[in-house]
Amino acid sequence: MPSLDALRASVLSTRGGAVDDSIPQLADADPELFGVAVVHPDGEMAASGDADHLFSIQSAVKPFLFALALADTGGEALDQVGIEPTGEAFDALKLESHTGRPPNPMVNAGALLTANLVDGDSGDARSRRITAGLSAFAGRDLDVDREISESEQLHGDRNHALAHLMRSEGTLDQTADEAVAVYARACSVMVDATALAVMGATLAFGGRNPVTGEQVVSVAIARDVVSVMATCGVYDGSGRWMRAVGVPAKSSVSGAIVLSAPNRLGAAIVSPPLDELGTSVRGEALSRVLSDEYGLHSFGFPGRPSRSAEAETEVGVGVDRT
Ligand code: GLN
Repeated sequence: MPSLDALRASVLSTRGGAVDDSIPQLADADPELFGVAVVHPDGEMAASGDADHLFSIQSAVKPFLFALALADTGGEALDQVGIEPTGEAFDALKLESHTGRPPNPMVNAGALLTANLVDGDSGDARSRRITAGLSAFAGRDLDVDREISESEQLHGDRNHALAHLMRSEGTLDQTADEAVAVYARACSVMVDATALAVMGATLAFGGRNPVTGEQVVSVAIARDVVSVMATCGVYDGSGRWMRAVGVPAKSSVSGAIVLSAPNRLGAAIVSPPLDELGTSVRGEALSRVLSDEYGLHSFGFPGRPSRSAEAETEVGVGVDRT
C-alpha cells in the first residue's frame, strides 16, 4: 500500500475549481493548501501535507449538528427535517412542499434547523452546547472564530431568507436572527484536517471516538447520520460521488471534505478550490484514490477489482460496454 504522502502526491496534477468568495475570510484562502488525515479503528492517525492548518468547518459541521439534534431531541428531529436528496444547490430557497420542513439536514435549511434543535435556552447556550459537542467528536477543544461568524451573519442573506421562510411555515421557533447566529457560529468553528478526520471517524465507528474512547452519540444516531451523508452529503453531486467514491461524506465551502467509511476509517481532506457544486476538486480526486487504495467503496466487491468502469477505461483495462 503506497504511503499517504504518495497518495496525496498522486493528485497534485489535478487542478481547476475556484476558491469560495462568499465571505472575505474564505476568499483569502490559499488555493495551494492541501492536507489530508486518516484515522483507523484503533485511533491511529496518518496525516500528510497541510493537515494542521486551521480553517472554518463550514458545511462539514452539518452531519454533527444533525447528530447533536438527534441526541438532544431523543430522535424527534427526524419529524422536523426530511431526509431526501434535493438535486438542488445547498442554499436553495426551498422547503418540502407538503410539510414545510427542510428537505434534509445536509443543506442550509436543514442545518439552520438542526443547529437550533440542540439543547439550550438561548442562542448563546445552544452555541456553547454545539461547540462542546463538536469538541467531543474531535477529541479536543475547538473554538469559534468570531470574525468569521460575524462575517457569515453579515453576508448570509440566503440563510436569513431561509430562516424567515421556515418561520413562516411554523417550522422554526427561534427568531430568524438568533437561528442564523447559532448556525453561523457552528460554521465558524475552527478545525484542521486531523480534528475533522477524528470527527468523521467517530461517526464511522458507531459514535465512539476512537482516540478518546468516548461514546459521543449512540450507534443508532451514528447510523442515521452516516446514511444521510451517503444520500445527501455532497448536495446535488451526491449520486456522482456515491458512484465514484462510494464513501459517505460531507463537502464544504472551505474546501474540506469529511469521510466516514463505516467500521473502516474516518478521513478529512482540505483543498480550497471548489467545483460548481461546492465540492473541493482535489479533495474529490484524493477521495477517489483513498477509496480505491483502501477498498472503501460501499458497493465494491472485496477481493475483486473494484475501480469504477470509468477509471478502468482510463487506465486501459478495457470494459465491454455492449
Ligand atoms: N457558511 C456557509 C453557508 O451557510 C456554509 C455553506 C457550505 O459550506 N456549503 O452559506
